[in-house]
Amino acid sequence: MKGILYVVSGPSGAGKSSMIKKALNVVDGFTFSVSYTTRAMRPGEKDGIDYNFISEEQFKKMEKNNEFLECAEVHGYYYGTGKEEIKNKLAEGYNIVLDVDVQGALNIKKVMADDTVLIFIAPPSYEELRRRLEGRGTENHKDLTKRLEDAHWELSKIYDFDYLIVNQNLNESINQLISIIIAEQLNINRIGQHLGKYKFFKQTFNER
Ligand code: GDP
Ligand code: ADP
Ligand code: 5GP
Repeated sequence: MKGILYVVSGPSGAGKSSMIKKALNVVDGFTFSVSYTTRAMRPGEKDGIDYNFISEEQFKKMEKNNEFLECAEVHGYYYGTGKEEIKNKLAEGYNIVLDVDVQGALNIKKVMADDTVLIFIAPPSYEELRRRLEGRGTENHKDLTKRLEDAHWELSKIYDFDYLIVNQNLNESINQLISIIIAEQLNINRIGQHLGKYKFFKQTFNER
C-alpha cells in the first residue's frame, strides 16, 4: 500500500519542529523528510538530521538538475525537498512527514494531491509568535522581523489546508497531530481497495 505524505506547515516559530519531533516518537512506520537548505546551521542542529546544509551554488545545481519535488526561497534563504527519496519511500509504503513553508505546501498539493494531507500549525497570536521566536533565540533581529512579517501572508492561506492545529498547549497539539495522522490512515477512501486482506471482508462479500 502506498504511503501518505503529511505536509506540516505554518509560520516560523509556531511550533512545527517541536511537534513533529515528539509525534514521530509515538507513531510507527514514519520517516521525516530531511530538506536541503542554504541557511546557516543553528547550535544543536546536525547536518543530515535537521537539514542537509548546502551552499547556494550546490542548491542552484540541484534545482537545475530537477532534483527537488519543490523548492522555495523562504525568509531570505533557499529550501528544497528532494524528489527521489520521497517518491521511493512512498512507493515502499512509508508515510512521510514534511516540514515546509506555506508556498511549498501548496505546491506539493498541486503536484501530488491524492496522497497528500496538509496540516497548518498556527500560533495562538502574533504576540505569542514573537515571544516564541525571541525565546528560541536562533535568528538575528533582521531575520526575526522577516519571519514575523511573512507570518501574515502565511496565516491568510489557512483555508487551503485540510487541518488546522492552533498550538497553544504543546502536549495537546502533539496529541492532535498524532490524531490526524492516525485518522487519515483509517480513512475508508484510502484503504478501500485493500480491504480484501481482512477475513471479515471475504466472509462478508465472497462467502455469502
Ligand atoms: P527537545 O525536547 O529538546 O528534544 O526539543 P523539542 O523540539 O521537543 O522542544 C521542546 C522545547 O519546548 C523545550 O525546550 C521546552 O522548554 C519548550 N516548551 C516551550 N513551551 C512548552 C510547553 O508548553 N510545553 C512543553 N512540553 N514544552 C514547551
Ligand atoms: P517552528 O519549527 O514552527 O519554527 P519551533 O518548534 O522551533 O517552531 O518552536 C519555536 C519555539 O517555540 C521553540 O523555542 C519551542 O520550544 C517553542 N514552543 C513550541 N510550542 C510551544 C508552545 N505550545 N508553547 C510555548 N512555546 C512553544
Ligand atoms: P527554519 O529555517 O526555521 O528551519 O525553516 C524556515 C521555513 O522553511 C519553515 O517554514 C520551514 O517549514 C520551511 N522549510 C523547510 N524545509 C523546506 C523545504 O524543503 N521546502 C520549503 N518550501 N520550505 C521548507
